Amino acid sequence: MKFTATVLHKRILNPETIVLQLTKGGFQFKAGQYLVLSFPDDKTSREYSIYSGENEDFLEVLIKIVPKGAFTNRIATVNVGDSLVIDGPHGFFILNPEEVLYKKHVFVASGTGISPFSSYIKTYPTLDYQLLHGIRMVDEAIEPQRYAPDKLVFCVSRGVTDHFSGRVTNYLTQTSIDLQAIYYLCGNSAMINDVSDILEQKGVPVKNIRTEAFF
Ligand SMILES: Cc1cc2nc3c(=O)[nH]c(=O)nc-3n(C[C@H](O)[C@H](O)[C@H](O)COP(=O)(O)OP(=O)(O)OC[C@H]3O[C@@H](n4cnc5c(N)ncnc54)[C@H](O)[C@@H]3O)c2cc1C
Repeated sequence: MKFTATVLHKRILNPETIVLQLTKGGFQFKAGQYLVLSFPDDKTSREYSIYSGENEDFLEVLIKIVPKGAFTNRIATVNVGDSLVIDGPHGFFILNPEEVLYKKHVFVASGTGISPFSSYIKTYPTLDYQLLHGIRMVDEAIEPQRYAPDKLVFCVSRGVTDHFSGRVTNYLTQTSIDLQAIYYLCGNSAMINDVSDILEQKGVPVKNIRTEAFF
């Protein structure tokens, strides 16, 4: 499906990260899928995971403004009322409906890789999950109020904070791993490769490790 959506709200979470809320029309998707966004006057496009839940009346995307990023430096300037072209939904980084009912899920994100996990948790409020979010500094936390505090672990790699100090890889190396859980990894490919190696070495079956690389 391809349609033109209107920007309803723009939330500036920090100088480098925004959430755009867009009109949804009759668009339907599965939590974990992504959109291809472009501007009406330019064919350049980029992929963005859907941040909002399946049943919400709008679509949201969470976007990191990349220094010198060709697309994100334009997207940073959009305002309420502007139009964006949406193509989608795309992708297979979705939950298994049977596993949703009886399995523990461990979500491991770096940066904006938290986006599909936000969509899962909005869509399935009773989901049994733990969310590990790797960020460089504590002010890069992304809307923590969306998650149950006892299910969210920040792994902060720079500075001294009340949170775990180190990367998600350090956290997973130093803590016990639930071998029965299903693991979903999303963000940069270096993190995904390193976390996959740790999980496999600790005995998680490869079939229970699902990944989505942003770059
Ligand atoms: C399936 C899929 C889903 C994606 N979902 C999201 C999403 O929900 N939110 C999001 O912000 N991006 C997401 N991306 C990345 C997005 O498509 C763009 O690559 C990104 O916005 C940069 O575009 P740009 O034109 O500004 O940068 P470009 O000029 O194309 O430069 C690309 C470079 O930017 C850096 N980069 C790309 N994405 C990120 C990022 N998220 N965080 C930090 N550095 C980055 C990398 O170094 C990359 O090599 C997704 C990518 C894929 C493939």
